[in-house]
Amino acid sequence: MDNEKYNRNISLLCPTCGCNQFEYEGVDETIEMVKCASCGRELTKDELIQENSENISEHVKEMGGQIVKDLAKEFKESLKAAFRGSKYIRIN
Ligand SMILES: [Zn+2]
Repeated sequence: MDNEKYNRNISLLCPTCGCNQFEYEGVDETIEMVKCASCGRELTKDELIQENSENISEHVKEMGGQIVKDLAKEFKESLKAAFRGSKYIRIN
């Protein structure tokens, strides 16, 4: 698979304040909760993705429908990678 073609940036934003920096609680790759670094709103990882689904679908539309499934997979992978290794993350 050509990863370069999926190399797009997707911002995950806090649905309350629009901040894109989150603290997370969880162990290794099992991220349970994220907490907005700005307003302190707590969301599960799934909620965060769901809250940003409109934003994500915009990217999917731009990229073309044929890679939707791949994107979803790639997105999960990049999210996992982003959450790994540091207390504070910035996805943008
Ligand atoms: Zn916030």
